[in-house]
Amino acid sequence: MPTAMVDLTGRRFGKLVVLEKAEAPDSVTKHRYAYWKCRCDCGKERLARADFLKNGSFHSCAYCPTITDEGEYMRYTAANGRSFIFDKEDLPHVEARRWSVSPDGYVHCSNAQDEFYNLPCILLGVESNPDSCVTRINGDKFDNRKPNDGLQAFHTSGSVQSASSGAALTNG
Ligand SMILES: [Zn+2]
Repeated sequence: MPTAMVDLTGRRFGKLVVLEKAEAPDSVTKHRYAYWKCRCDCGKERLARADFLKNGSFHSCAYCPTITDEGEYMRYTAANGRSFIFDKEDLPHVEARRWSVSPDGYVHCSNAQDEFYNLPCILLGVESNPDSCVTRINGDKFDNRKPNDGLQAFHTSGSVQSASSGAALTNG
């Protein structure tokens, strides 16, 4: 028997905060369960069944990236389990977005406006400069630390730019 629906809006269940009542996904029987749209602390939204929220089965989006301190550097592990390492000073850049890590080690993301972000370019401050590229000195694309270990930016003209403190490159 259906019971009066409890309004869960604004309630927190683990990492999930309930945003609003939602339609059940097409794949499930619509009238049996109450579904709510939730936002995870990691920024991802997901639908969750009210009973699963309340009994603790759903407490995150299940796709949360994790950032761990490995001593001399940090490691970001994406939802697909692939990870990359980066300098501790770059933590604000890394934790600001959800990153995808491709099988060959490219780290990128896009926002709601479909703008594309390449992490090495952001860390080296060259994202808006089409004449600049990023290379890995040590050849390991999963290594996003700056020199002397990981990243270095260079202009396609051939001049090498040191990546000190993410200083932006300028043309001319
Ligand atoms: Zn999450």
